[in-house]
Amino acid sequence: MMAQQQAQASYDAQDLWQKDRNHFVHPFTDFSVFHENGCDLITDSDGIYVEDAHGNRFIDGIAGLWCVNVGHGRAEIGQAMAEQATRMAYFSTFNNLSNAPATELAAKLAELAPAHLNHVFYSCGGSTANDATIRLVHYYFNRLGKPSKKRILSRTNAYHGTTYMAASLTGIASNNWQFDTLDLVTHLSEANCYRRPEGMSEAEYCDHLTDELEQTIDRLGADNIAAFIAEPIMGAGGVLVAPQGYHSRVQAICRANDILFIADEVVTGFGRLGHFFASEAVFETQPDIINVAKGLSSGYAPLGATLISDALYEVLSTPQGPGGVLSTGFTYSGHPVSCAAALKNIEIIEREGICENVLDVGPYLESQLKTLASHETVGDIRGSHFMMAIENVADKTTKELLPVEARVGDRVAAEAQKRGLIIRPVGHLNIISPPLIWTRQVVDEVVAILDDAFAATTRSLK
Ligand code: PLP
Repeated sequence: MMAQQQAQASYDAQDLWQKDRNHFVHPFTDFSVFHENGCDLITDSDGIYVEDAHGNRFIDGIAGLWCVNVGHGRAEIGQAMAEQATRMAYFSTFNNLSNAPATELAAKLAELAPAHLNHVFYSCGGSTANDATIRLVHYYFNRLGKPSKKRILSRTNAYHGTTYMAASLTGIASNNWQFDTLDLVTHLSEANCYRRPEGMSEAEYCDHLTDELEQTIDRLGADNIAAFIAEPIMGAGGVLVAPQGYHSRVQAICRANDILFIADEVVTGFGRLGHFFASEAVFETQPDIINVAKGLSSGYAPLGATLISDALYEVLSTPQGPGGVLSTGFTYSGHPVSCAAALKNIEIIEREGICENVLDVGPYLESQLKTLASHETVGDIRGSHFMMAIENVADKTTKELLPVEARVGDRVAAEAQKRGLIIRPVGHLNIISPPLIWTRQVVDEVVAILDDAFAATTRSLK
């Protein structure tokens, strides 16, 4: 299929690179190496593979960017989008206007989500979903006559996106370096079992983190706090799995203090942990709001959604009085083509048992990745199911990191790519977040590549 696509459209890689470097401002890009390294033009894709402009084929180990959950080249999603685009590509959803895919998708999401989440507010991706959520949460408390409840609790190393509000929720220091943030957010400690204080058991660590939350609420005053937001498993911040019971205890504390609990399931949603939503199925929480994007449409079209509880919706939908409207939303809220893609994507996830595949192959991926522990730089291998990371260190006992200049994550990723596998470097980490259609056989192939890549990295660091 990829060969066929190449015959249809071949690219002049050199010409494109010139245009790219002159005109395309790439997101999240290190300009100290960008100009000298050029860029990899990914031109074709099929199933678990992508191909570059030079005809090199790679196993996609990052699902594009944690999003192509059903895999690449799904003609039926393309067809659903084309049919919708031809029939009615776009019309407003403001006021009483609607479109069939947006309505069908809202009903489908309500069916799949935890029972109390029955209302959907659409956005254009994960950042805008989180941004819109904070506006809605503030509006909710304003409507309840509690306008002082404004502050949002987030966590160090959380990633919630890149609009101004979402970047302010984000707790990754390097992401906001020399950028400004809004003074609306208080960051609590991340839940990092690997780097928890020396001598603390996991249970004691959980107490330690929830004590910090309670102390923070005491210090700021519950009357000033609107919501707590967290990824069920912290993704870009290092694939950090919180200690057992952490999320449900946090939720109980929030509930006792009239603080809303927001789950950012932009990565964990739509099968990555083996369920459409991980909050209830894996972490035994009932969030007031769940935000999704990425796997919602498997990246075939931009789309985000905020799933809102019945209790919240009752307040949000209470008429303001003559002329008053819920004045928030996007031109592309409920975009028909994106919603058509999402509906087909969900149909595929259900029809092919993709969550079941993750529940079956996920533990195998975890156990096989753990065989890499003997490599000199590998300090920690963590995550769950199709959301995994490897943390590189200089010293396994002290967990001391290698110097930044060693660019160890980049080295491992480059060695893997030379051998036909794309994984993601994030500082000293390597993230593996594949399409959810990997089989055990693919896992074996990937782990063999990684074995060689880590060995080559160790040699290159000597
Ligand atoms: N939330 C989480 C947990 C994410 O990982 C991301 C992106 O990686 C976002 C939000 C932002 O999503 P987007 O890039 O679609 O705006």
